[in-house]
Amino acid sequence: MRNFKSKIALDLDGVIWDLVDPWVNSYNILYGDNIKTTDIKEYKLSNTLIKATSEELHNILLQKNFWNNVFPFPNAFEYLDKLNSEYDLYIATKTDYRIYEIKVNRVLKLFPFINPEQIICINNKSLLDVDWLVDDCADNLNGNYNKILLDASYNRSNHEFIRAKDLKEVYNIIKFMEMN
Ligand SMILES: [Mg+2]
Repeated sequence: MRNFKSKIALDLDGVIWDLVDPWVNSYNILYGDNIKTTDIKEYKLSNTLIKATSEELHNILLQKNFWNNVFPFPNAFEYLDKLNSEYDLYIATKTDYRIYEIKVNRVLKLFPFINPEQIICINNKSLLDVDWLVDDCADNLNGNYNKILLDASYNRSNHEFIRAKDLKEVYNIIKFMEMN
């Protein structure tokens, strides 16, 4: 048994909470389309949500009220709490600085056991000095740490990394790997 806690960084969007569902809903309403989240097979949303430009899609996220419709994935609260109690936990998000404060406030509201000091705004996640990184974007899993890809319809073509379907599986994988 090790006498120090492993450092775990979790991505936020697509790992802890569902960003795609409210984003696609807002897009459908604003641009009169009828896209289902399961239609999205690529990480770059603008390739599927073709009635809006990339900039217009991004502008949806700049609306403060939008974030009231962003909610945790099932079991995310329970397993974020467990990971936070048992490990040295960080949330590492690649986020536009104009959205960062809104996101931090939303995290603190949804997960009162998280401190703002645990949340990191970072563009290049290879800079993180952690034992584990969990992300739904394979391109972000590019550093010197253990990697888990959070499963999503838009990353199924990637077979490079250990895959988890939710934070419960993330917890179980880390628990198992750290026992050995
Ligand atoms: Mg993400």
